Amino acid sequence: MRYSWAEFTQQLAGCEKCRLCQTRTNIVPGEGSYTADLMFIGEGPGRDEDRLGRPFVGASGELLTRMIHAIGIERTDTYICNVVKCRPPQNRNPEPDEAQACLPFLRAQVALIRPKVIVLLGKVACQYTLGETFSIMREHGVWRERKGIWFMPTLHPAALLRDPANKRLAWDDFQKVREKLRELEGQT
Ligand code: URA
Repeated sequence: MRYSWAEFTQQLAGCEKCRLCQTRTNIVPGEGSYTADLMFIGEGPGRDEDRLGRPFVGASGELLTRMIHAIGIERTDTYICNVVKCRPPQNRNPEPDEAQACLPFLRAQVALIRPKVIVLLGKVACQYTLGETFSIMREHGVWRERKGIWFMPTLHPAALLRDPANKRLAWDDFQKVREKLRELEGQT
């Protein structure tokens, strides 16, 4: 189904398609530029995101913002969202039925923005977007192309905060993103 942004907002408002509606404070649709070349997809809102209704505004959001700046891009020039738009209690992973209920919204966002590159933050984003079981440690940093969009799986910023030694791996993945965007810009 093809939504306009107005329809997207209308459909999402007050959504009760899964049990996460019972425990959320705010829906977290996503934010950023509607014409972004670069999109980020996370797992689901955490506590700060649920409170504010905005994606990646807590500690992992701060790290993500720094990493975006480090490749010379403004966060506001990208679009940032999650697989599920409501916070899973205790920040648990979304259940498969919750993710399935929410995926039409993510598909609509991708179809409306048509980014050139999508960075998948962590295993959950990879699983539900690429539709596979996924080992992030083994498969991060490897480009996949689907319907003209380039997907880069990388480690979730929350995982990097837990294990800072892995920041180097994500840093290398972000460099590949910068290079790919330059390469694609050159083609238009
Ligand atoms: N983690 C996510 O996956 N998404 C957010 O919005 C915040 C933290």
